[in-house]
Amino acid sequence: MSGPTVPQDRDGRPSRELHRYDRQMLLPGFGADGQRRLLRSTALILGCGALGTVAADLLARAGIGHLVIIDRDFVELGNLQRQVLFDERDAAEALPKAEAAKRKIACINSQVRVSAIVDDLNHTNIAEYAAGADVLVDGLDNFETRYLANDFAVKHAVPYVYGAAVGTAGMSYAILPHTRNGHAPWETATTGSRATPCFRCLFEQAPPPGESPTCDTVGVLGAASAIIANFQVAESLKILTGHFDRVSPTMLNIDLWSNTMTQLKVSQVREHGDCPCCKRHDFEFLDGKAGSSAAALCGRDAVQLRHRQHQGELNLDEIAQRLSRFGAVVSNGFMLRAEIRDNGKPYELTLFADGRAIVKGTGEPSEARGVYARYVGS
Ligand SMILES: [Zn+2]
Repeated sequence: MSGPTVPQDRDGRPSRELHRYDRQMLLPGFGADGQRRLLRSTALILGCGALGTVAADLLARAGIGHLVIIDRDFVELGNLQRQVLFDERDAAEALPKAEAAKRKIACINSQVRVSAIVDDLNHTNIAEYAAGADVLVDGLDNFETRYLANDFAVKHAVPYVYGAAVGTAGMSYAILPHTRNGHAPWETATTGSRATPCFRCLFEQAPPPGESPTCDTVGVLGAASAIIANFQVAESLKILTGHFDRVSPTMLNIDLWSNTMTQLKVSQVREHGDCPCCKRHDFEFLDGKAGSSAAALCGRDAVQLRHRQHQGELNLDEIAQRLSRFGAVVSNGFMLRAEIRDNGKPYELTLFADGRAIVKGTGEPSEARGVYARYVGS
């Protein structure tokens, strides 16, 4: 038996896929061709917090073909002030953010394929997760992982759209990497190369710990992170539809509380510097020569630990049983959370099956390592 014939577009997809994007296809230079191109595209969302949720939401609504969302964290009530894809039920269930985002996007645009990855991005897994990505969208909260993403972007000629927001301000900048052979589509445009300085050209060194403001110390305005993520999405849409000549060559800097908006000219930065990444091709973060396995988490009194030597999956049920002697323990299949009082001090230990842990109750990596070693063992 055959059903009614569904009209198809050039790619053999049902044409109703395009009708929902009518308002977008009317935009100059976008059209049905731009929409089809978007439907075939993949974006990697690096971190699904204040920036990542807004970016994933808008890209899904715009009709991207495939979203890969990677995030190491789970939803908490305090996230809902700015992280638009989550709700109170997600927080009550302590769902991993990537999974919660996938569920919500399925209700928004079921035609978008979403790959939810609950993991910490590092030099051993970025090649796997970023394989096939047409753009990397930055929703990260630390310099180290940004350097890693930038190394990957430059080495593999993938555009990387940087974004950061803290307090009432934020920055964004779209990177179209200079490649070794100069053959990337943005380098061979008839109007001349549109390649830009990379993230490392602009920030050669990370600021020393404790010297830059974090969500923890100064808070974050939801409108500030949202406006930065909106800018990132606009740049990503230009990239994914091949409009490289439209990509902003400047770095946007906005403060919504002091009403300032500046566009920094950065095009000369690469020529005048000696960038280890895009000039010397020394990818030290990607090669694992730089980086650490313990990091304080932005916005929380917590430290994440990762044990590089760990192999295989942890038996969470067994550990839950052991830890139940010390306090309340919940386990939901994705992770285990235990309340622990160590030497009179309360901690909350969250443990994932891959051995990764978040120790809440301290911002000190060494103290967190101690709690992990005492109650989980390493
Ligand atoms: Zn560079």
